[in-house]
Amino acid sequence: MILWALLLACQDGAQVFLSEEEAVKIVFRHGEKVVRRELLLPVEVHAAVEDRLKRRVENRYRSFVEIRNGEATGVALITDEVTKTLTMTFIVGVDLQGRVIDVAVLEHREKIGADSAKRKFLDQLLGKTLRDPIRRKKDMLHVVGATMSCDAVMRGTRKVLAVVQEYFLDRPENLHAIVQEADPVVQQRYGMGSLCTITAYGPKAAVEQALDDVRRWDGILSNYLEESELSQLNRERSLHPSTDLTAFLRDCRKYSDLSDGAFDVTVAPLVDLWGFRNRKYRVPSSAEIEATLRKIGRDHVVFENGSVRLIDGTTLDPGAIGKGFAVDRAVEILKKAGVNSAFVDFGSSVFGLGTPPGEEGWRVAIRDPFQKERVLGSLRLKDASVSTSGNYEKFFEVDGRKYGHILDPRTGIPVEGVASVSVLASTATASDAFSTAIFVGGLDLARRAGVEALWIPADPNAEPRMTDGWVPE
Ligand code: ADP
Ligand code: MG
Repeated sequence: MILWALLLACQDGAQVFLSEEEAVKIVFRHGEKVVRRELLLPVEVHAAVEDRLKRRVENRYRSFVEIRNGEATGVALITDEVTKTLTMTFIVGVDLQGRVIDVAVLEHREKIGADSAKRKFLDQLLGKTLRDPIRRKKDMLHVVGATMSCDAVMRGTRKVLAVVQEYFLDRPENLHAIVQEADPVVQQRYGMGSLCTITAYGPKAAVEQALDDVRRWDGILSNYLEESELSQLNRERSLHPSTDLTAFLRDCRKYSDLSDGAFDVTVAPLVDLWGFRNRKYRVPSSAEIEATLRKIGRDHVVFENGSVRLIDGTTLDPGAIGKGFAVDRAVEILKKAGVNSAFVDFGSSVFGLGTPPGEEGWRVAIRDPFQKERVLGSLRLKDASVSTSGNYEKFFEVDGRKYGHILDPRTGIPVEGVASVSVLASTATASDAFSTAIFVGGLDLARRAGVEALWIPADPNAEPRMTDGWVPE
């Protein structure tokens, strides 16, 4: 069977010498890593190449960049040239001084001329540069009976040298970008009381920009920084909000409505009352709770005539949604910069953008709220987010009763009976808001809101509950 196929191939004249992978290995013998890219020459680069060669050439190439010790060491292109009537395909590797590293033929399709693939001929090309003629009777000896194919290889080699010169060597930023994308960039920044870590396959500048924006949002939304716009609103009760603060407050309202007030950014007076804000914990009297409850409610944030006003003594606490909101903004910036594979980790809220190379998603571990080293299961995120709300870190105990930092804005009392809630949603704002909301309002809220959730009861002997679509690996 195999023999028959080979015979057919020979009759037809076409010969396959190497696969793409084999060809790349011939050119880059020592490469630790080779990054493959479909190269589409920008118009001005394409024009410059044609100008150099004084002929028309294609603007698409399969390109390969060899990387050693985190630096580019060579570039290879796979390209076609017409021999007589058909094309042949070959690879040309070039070092960063613009010298040919090696040339190898992948496929020769014409009936005659396949001897142009022989080393005796190709070896003459090693070390050639754009300054060499690379021409028959000048600096090259062709193979008798394969003249046209040899000419094609020589022409193609000059073409590759010109493309590499114009696109990679004369414009080193192009090479630089590919090197940066080969390994993920990992950068961290502190903000909103947590460490934000971004892992991205893309330029470092984009990651820096996204992290700068997380910090910027902290400067707008913090209820600890006195100069933040949100603190100013809490103090002054009314102001003309920036478009940023407006966007945030609109989202707060949206998730309050979607959760029937289980999530409510106006919960701040209650958070203060129970001492969660400054860690002066105490159990208030029911009269105090009663009075505080009158201050809170999603209708207590009023937009009118371009200003926003807080009424009935309410204040805002961004704690249950701010990190998720900032994660989504960071993801937007990464996307705008052309990054399509990144993981934004802001502690209790994470987002997986695209997938890591060769994988189906970004893996996140869901931890056991009773034993943080233990992993309950993991999820793969692809353009999705997971947030977790827990009672295991911020709580106090009085007379054997545990009071956690997530409060029911309708009763004024810390939620009991829940250890943690994790939510899977398409945005981090949604997963963050809903992890708190479902903590307060129960798993039915997830079903109604169309998000997936894992609900773990406070009793370690009771079984966790989850929505049907919550499928850990
Ligand atoms: P984490 O702090 O781990 O991100 P959450 O996202 O659930 O957890 O946020 C909890 C914080 O949100 C609390 O510390 C408090 O400041 C605030 N908060 C508490 N209860 C509510 C609620 N029902 N709605 C909105 N915010 C809340
Ligand atoms: Mg939350």
